[in-house]
This record gives sequence, structure tokens and C-alpha cells, in this order.
Amino acid sequence: MANIAFIGLGQMGAPMATNLLHKGHNLKVYDIASTATTKLEPLGAYIATSPKDATIDSEFIITMLPNGKLVHDVIFGHDGIIESMKKSSIIIDMSTIHPLESDNIRYKLQSQNIEFMDVPVGRTSDHAIAGTLLILAGGTEIQIEKASPILLCMGNEIVNAGGPGNGIRVKLINNFMSIALNALSAETAILCEALNLPLDKALEVMKGTPANKGHFTTTWPNKILKGDLSPSFMIDLAHKDLGLALDVANQLSIPLFMGAASREIYSQAKAQGRGKQDWTAILEHLRCCSNLKNTQNY
Ligand code: NAD
Repeated sequence: MANIAFIGLGQMGAPMATNLLHKGHNLKVYDIASTATTKLEPLGAYIATSPKDATIDSEFIITMLPNGKLVHDVIFGHDGIIESMKKSSIIIDMSTIHPLESDNIRYKLQSQNIEFMDVPVGRTSDHAIAGTLLILAGGTEIQIEKASPILLCMGNEIVNAGGPGNGIRVKLINNFMSIALNALSAETAILCEALNLPLDKALEVMKGTPANKGHFTTTWPNKILKGDLSPSFMIDLAHKDLGLALDVANQLSIPLFMGAASREIYSQAKAQGRGKQDWTAILEHLRCCSNLKNTQNY
């Protein structure tokens, strides 16, 4: 059984720590709010008075905090983790934070020969309670192998994100897509309501189309990802159809923010001569609009 320090016992951290305790690990827990740790003491956790106190003798140090500044401060600040941790221990940040802040923490620790992994989690606090989180592991192969028995006490699936820094990146990408899609899904449901079309009927149709299945695995593989921009469905037509939906919504005073923003992208692609290209060429259009050369630090 491992000695583990756990810092940040909120909605996610508390059940994650509880699961580690249930699996028999020795836990020292610290939270700035004293009430956050009260339920863990009867389960056998040592309630630490600071990150430094929690970290003494711990082989794994887990942080589960609201933002990158707090993660940085509990590691490097007054009474912080590095004041007492053993150099052979490993810090595992499971918070969702800015990737560059995470990189910065890793580089600072690397310069002191301290190991750091970015291991955010997918799913919700219900999954944290059930021990079924999706673990997105950023680290070296050796680090992931070493940490896996601990991580699997909190989740039931580990994705090796492909190297240090990639755990937090894959989390960011997944959240970007699913959060934005939630808004687009809501707009679609509102448009259904406005048209008196039962959502069930729309879902029946969309379940077999890119609307529900997404484009990454349906339209893209045989077109844009092969460099084939010949039209299966033209940008001109996609622009027209999107416009029809927006015109109807406009007449009914229904705001469709995501839809309207999408039309601007199609309009711009048309204006730049892509009207007769396949609609998947929107990827190439946005790539051309983006200065990807400046993003290597991400
Ligand atoms: P939370 O606000 O419930 O918990 C954060 C805890 O950190 C609190 O108990 C707070 O007192 C403590 N804390 C704040 N500053 C501290 C400090 N300086 N030292 C020690 N403890 C400190 O948040 P949460 O929902 O548990 O989320 C934690 C992280 O997990 C976030 O990065 C969040 O984005 C991510 N996350 C949350 C969910 C979710 O469904 N809630 C899902 C996946 C990922």
C-alpha cells in the first residue's frame, strides 16, 4: 500500500480520496477549508495542517484544485509541497488547469529533478464517487506504469495521452468539443420546439447522420483527411441550408448564436472561393485563417 498526500478535497477530491482509503492506501489530506476533510478522518486519513505537512513521507502527491495558480502555490508557496517532499516522490496534478500553467509547473519541477504528471479526469462527481472516472494520463511510460495502480483506485479507464503535458491537452480538447456541442444541441432542440417538431423525430433522423455521429468519423475520413476536396456536399449548399434554418429562426425571433457563427465561417469560405468544394473543406479554410506557426508552445 502506498503513502499518498491528497490536496484539495472538494466535490471531486473528497470522493477520490475516499476511494483511495477504501483500497487500503495511507492518506494524508489537506484542504484550505477545514470542513472539507472532516468525513475523511473517520476513514483513517491523517488531516494535515499544510501541503508541506501532508507531503512528508508520501510517495504520490495528488492535487485536485480549482485552478493553476492554486496548484502552483501549493507546490512552490509557503509551507508548500517541495519544502518536504522526497525527491523520489511524484506529483500528480489531477485538476483541470491551463496547459501552459501545467507545463510551467512541470519545467520548474524538472529543474529540481522532481517528477510531475498532468492527469486530469473526465466524467463527473458521480463517477468520482463510484470510482469510475476516465483518467487522462500525461507522463512518461514509466511514470504512467508506476502511477496506474493508484489511478485505478479512482477511475476505471486510463488513457495514455501520449506524453508529458498531453493529459491536460486532451482534457481541454474533449471539454471544448463537448461543452460547445452542448450549446449547439440546445439550439437544435429549441429550433425543433419552435417548429413544433418533436425532438424524438429529429433524433431518429440524426442518429444516422453527422449531426449526431459527428464529422471526425463520418464525413472527414474519406474527404478532407485524404486531401479530397471534390464535393460530396458543396459548401455553397451547406451555406444555403444553414441560412434556411437561420431565416426560419429569425422569423420566429429565436436566437441561434452557434448557428449564426457557423454561417459566418461558411460565408467566409465561400468568399474565399471554396463554394464548390466539399463542406469538409471548412477544416482547411479555418487552418488557413489560423496562424498555426505561432502555436507550437501549446
Ligand atoms: P471544488 O471547488 O469542489 O473543490 C476544490 C477544493 O480545493 C475545495 O475543497 C477548496 O477548499 C480546495 N482548495 C482551494 N484552494 C486550496 C488551497 N490553496 N489549498 C488546499 N485546498 C484548496 O472543485 P471540484 O469540483 O472538486 O474540482 C476540482 C478540479 O477538478 C477542478 O480543476 C475541476 O475543473 C476539475 N473537475 C471537476 C469535475 C466536476 O464534475 N466537478 C469533473 C472533472 C474535473
